[in-house]
Amino acid sequence: MSDKKIENPSPLRLRLDSEALVSNWQALDQLSGAATAGAAIKANGYGLGAEPVSRLLQAAGCKDFYVANWQEASEIEAILPTDVLVSVLNGVREEDMTYAVQSRAKPVLNSIEQFQRWQQTGRVCDIMVNSGMNRLGINLDELKKIDVSTLQVDIVMSHLASADEDTKQNAEQLAQYQAALTMITGRRKSLCNSAGIALGADYHFDCTRPGLSLYGGIPRPVLAGKIKQVVFPETQILQCRSLQTGDKLGYNAKYVADRQHDIAILAMGYADGYLRGFSNRGYFLYQGHKLPVLGRVSMDLIAVDISQASSLREGDWLSAEYELPIAAQQSGLSQYELITGLGHRYTRNWS
Ligand SMILES: *Cc1c(COP(=O)(O)O)cnc(C)c1O
Repeated sequence: MSDKKIENPSPLRLRLDSEALVSNWQALDQLSGAATAGAAIKANGYGLGAEPVSRLLQAAGCKDFYVANWQEASEIEAILPTDVLVSVLNGVREEDMTYAVQSRAKPVLNSIEQFQRWQQTGRVCDIMVNSGMNRLGINLDELKKIDVSTLQVDIVMSHLASADEDTKQNAEQLAQYQAALTMITGRRKSLCNSAGIALGADYHFDCTRPGLSLYGGIPRPVLAGKIKQVVFPETQILQCRSLQTGDKLGYNAKYVADRQHDIAILAMGYADGYLRGFSNRGYFLYQGHKLPVLGRVSMDLIAVDISQASSLREGDWLSAEYELPIAAQQSGLSQYELITGLGHRYTRNWS
């Protein structure tokens, strides 16, 4: 037996548009006004691949990257030039310290405990202030307990909970953040995620932290037309068949044919992040035709109606309709879940 590894071509692929990714970052950088846009690339670049995303964006001029934890930092810190900064949003646990003190990434300190843990290193860090989301971050009344002169603080940041909605919580958080800035200073200030950027100049400060919209997400209507689709899931037809009137399809017979027509069975399913919310609601695209998903999405298989595209055969490729606001409406998933859940069975092809 030869020990040469034979690669078997996957029946699923993600077509990833690098031009659209870069154009989205540039648009968000422009929309950030006087502030400069960084890039949130946690969760493996929201499922697209942290390494290619960070390479493409740093080549376009992005100088700040945000990951969730030190494992994610370790995957990208070696490939980025030294003038590019990496922030670890989930902060620094005791278990992270050995790695963290020799890493070029900096922790975002979220609590007094983390502040004390990092203080002894004298190294650079960011600080997260809790302005009302009550997730991570130091409360305003605790800020007086920390002496930032003992540390090199780069970004003093906070995070908006509802920037995708028109709610007074946005202005309330802005006011809390501004109050915090009178108590604590760093080199730079940052408040906005993707949706926050669209709230206007008062929210921009020095640097912004878009994630979702880099990858085609549209959390506020004003971003439509400026943000392009980046992720295009595609899959191959495994089998075509004809249904007769009354034939039942798939698990629990959630589709019953009301006429004689052809269907195709696709090599994709909920294990690939195409979750069951798309059952009887999603579409696949082929040469301008919209082919409806029929019945329940299985783990590894999906059925689509190919009445409008009768030339389709086993082995042909179809694209899922995956413009994120549309796919979110069809499936009931968030735009975030739609991309971070895409899984390992796709080959990821950047064009
Ligand atoms: C994930 C995250 C972002 C990016 O948010 P999007 O809504 O994806 O643009 C920015 N800042 C923090 C602290 C985050 O956790």
